[in-house]
Amino acid sequence: MTGAPLRLHNSLTRTTEVFAPIDPANVRVYSCGPTVYNYAHIGNLRAYVFTDTLSRVLRWKGWPLTHIINITDVGHLTSDADAGDDKMEAAARERGQDIWAIAAHYTQAFKQNLRDLNIDDPMRFPLATDHVAEMIDFASAIADRHCYTLDSGLYFDVSTVPDYGRLARSKEDDGEGRIDPVAGKRNPQDFAIWRASGPGENRQMEWDSPWGRGAPGWHLECSVMARKYLGDEFDIHTGGIDHREIHHPNEIAQNQAHCGVDGSCADHAGFTGAKLWMHNNFLVDRTGKMSKSSGEFLTLQRLVDRGFHPLSYRLMCLQAHYRSEMEFSWEGLAAAQVRLKRLVQTVESLRAQPPKAGSVDTTGYRGALDAAISDDLATPKALIVLDAMLADKAIPAADRLAALADFDAVLGLDLCRLDRRALRTRPAEATIDEAGIAEKLAERRQARAAKDFATSDAIREALSAAGVEVMDGDALEWDWKPTQSA
Ligand code: AMP
Ligand code: ZN
Repeated sequence: MTGAPLRLHNSLTRTTEVFAPIDPANVRVYSCGPTVYNYAHIGNLRAYVFTDTLSRVLRWKGWPLTHIINITDVGHLTSDADAGDDKMEAAARERGQDIWAIAAHYTQAFKQNLRDLNIDDPMRFPLATDHVAEMIDFASAIADRHCYTLDSGLYFDVSTVPDYGRLARSKEDDGEGRIDPVAGKRNPQDFAIWRASGPGENRQMEWDSPWGRGAPGWHLECSVMARKYLGDEFDIHTGGIDHREIHHPNEIAQNQAHCGVDGSCADHAGFTGAKLWMHNNFLVDRTGKMSKSSGEFLTLQRLVDRGFHPLSYRLMCLQAHYRSEMEFSWEGLAAAQVRLKRLVQTVESLRAQPPKAGSVDTTGYRGALDAAISDDLATPKALIVLDAMLADKAIPAADRLAALADFDAVLGLDLCRLDRRALRTRPAEATIDEAGIAEKLAERRQARAAKDFATSDAIREALSAAGVEVMDGDALEWDWKPTQSA
């Protein structure tokens, strides 16, 4: 480990703690992955920009990393608790499509989103449906001591583990929304470990189990896959802040139960699986929390269609601290895109500078970056350090560019490769291509040189009608930008 001690906020204790890995030669992180019944919305993607920042920081500070993001392709109901329908089955039924094809399609789309956001691939993306036999084994191990059966399946009795809900800080009687209408449950927070298919229920995905034919409960997959790939106890478990209330408390209850029955952990009561539980706050819009089930939602592709580069959205995320709620607006995204363009332009001008003899030490800036990110991943501060370093004329361009590569290993804005052409994304509805725009702009320059303002204005209007806004006197000398019809 190099530099400042890394301090991270632990949702279990609600305090920021100095991170000390279990095994410094292999830091192990598990991130709850997407439920693949639809495209990820940009709120979901904020969760993975956060985990990517965490991964980059861990590696930057010198720790080798094993990172897992699972793919939930079975078991997640329309409510996070036990009410409603399986999201995957419901999507397949509504669209009359094969459920496996739906899962494969949206899994690929999710991975493409991650690539577009320059999110490093985790070590693995395990699928829930590839682990059903292991889920049955895990459930069998805890069933006698911790579970009971009802007609609808096998349920976990939360009163059998100490301190249930400590992560959520919920009391037994908290949260009306948590009380599920499942007849026969012993405690309102008890949750399904296995859901038996009801009579006449026509599921495309189902398996045999000691508790009847059916499907695993959603929380089981994460306990099983984290344990399989990262061991009984691992370093960090991440997810969106909604998971702090139901999904992660339930995972913790299962982990506690399992370690108690097989004796794999020393401290049964204190055991949670991960040492640190970290949660990103929500992306919201003016109407509230963005959610996939609420009809229209914003995908990364929709941002691209409106003329935005995916990395402008990444920068927008980095401008907010991961534990702060972030409000999405098109104006905010446009401002992030301008900031990204300025960064790219600065890098271009540094590259164009003639080489100078000698070099200047940039370790002061590196230390400031380290201090920022070590303070619970304070990316907004890290961006300010980046701006200051790039603007420091006392440092030769070559040294600033070398420092930039080091900074970008943490920020992931791809600043060593992005060029202005990549950032000038034409909106999908623009009716003119890049070469056509260049040609029109050349004609317009000629017209202006000849003081033929009528022609020059006509060209500006024609371009505007084609989805391209001419930017005269733009300090960035960008010449044009996509017309953003917000
Ligand atoms: P899901 O596909 O619904 O299982 O969610 C994938 C990830 O996105 C989980 O970690 C969620 O907690 C997270 N998430 C869901 N909605 C939002 C949101 N609006 N803002 C940030 N993260 C979210
Ligand atoms: Zn999970």
